[in-house]
Amino acid sequence: MTAELALPALLPCQTCATVDEITFTCIQCNNLAFCDTCWSKWILHIPGAVGWNGKPHEKADPLVVGRLRQILEPVRTEEEHEAELLEDQDTTWFGYGRDASNHPQLYGVY
Ligand SMILES: [Zn+2]
Ligand SMILES: [Zn+2]
Repeated sequence: MTAELALPALLPCQTCATVDEITFTCIQCNNLAFCDTCWSKWILHIPGAVGWNGKPHEKADPLVVGRLRQILEPVRTEEEHEAELLEDQDTTWFGYGRDASNHPQLYGVY
C-alpha cells in the first residue's frame, strides 16, 4: 500500500524517535518534532509553560510550516511582517496566524 497523501517526510519524534505517528514541529523549540504523546511530556510543553514572547508553544503542522517557510523566506523587517500578518489573518495562509508573528525571527536566525 502506498500512502495517498503527498505529505512531506515527517521528522522522527525528538523524544521517542517514532516515525509511525504524525509528528508536530515546534517552531519555538528549534523546529524539533514530537509525536502527539511526547509533545505534552516535553519539559517546555507542560501546561502553563510559555516560550519567548510569553506565548505557549503550538503544534505546527509540518505542511503548514513548509508553506510558511516559503512565504517568510524573503528577508523583511519584523514590522513589515507584523503588518502583513495582520492583513493575512483572514486568509487561509495563516490558519493559526495568532502565533505567526513569532516566525520571522526564528527563520531569520536559522
Ligand atoms: Zn514520541
Ligand atoms: Zn516547544
